[in-house]
Amino acid sequence: MIYMVDIDQTICRTPFTDGQHRYGLAVPLKHRIEEINRLYDQGHTIIYWTARGSGSGLNWTALTNKQLNDWGCKFHEVRLGKPSYDVWIDDKAFNDKEFFKNQDIEYLYDDYLVNGYKNYEQPRPN
Ligand SMILES: [Mg+2]
Repeated sequence: MIYMVDIDQTICRTPFTDGQHRYGLAVPLKHRIEEINRLYDQGHTIIYWTARGSGSGLNWTALTNKQLNDWGCKFHEVRLGKPSYDVWIDDKAFNDKEFFKNQDIEYLYDDYLVNGYKNYEQPRPN
């Protein structure tokens, strides 16, 4: 199967302060990355797809590739250019919390780890 995987708020927590995404301060969610890596190891195609820069026009390719490699992400391709949106309606889409729902305890711990960021809008677990 081909898995299209979002990056920010899906495999990492990325602060949003003063109206800007702070990609350089993103904190990886190791348990989620391990889950995606498991799919890769099972032979599935993993494509990370991000909207980084789609709104601002800035090129985040170098930082994004460095982060994925530093975080130990296994993937076949990383694509930028995903459109900015607020709601994604798709018959094949999973909400991240639904997809990773068997890892709720770790999810809560990860939220705790990033609570130090001021003005960071915390996503809530189910
Ligand atoms: Mg995202």
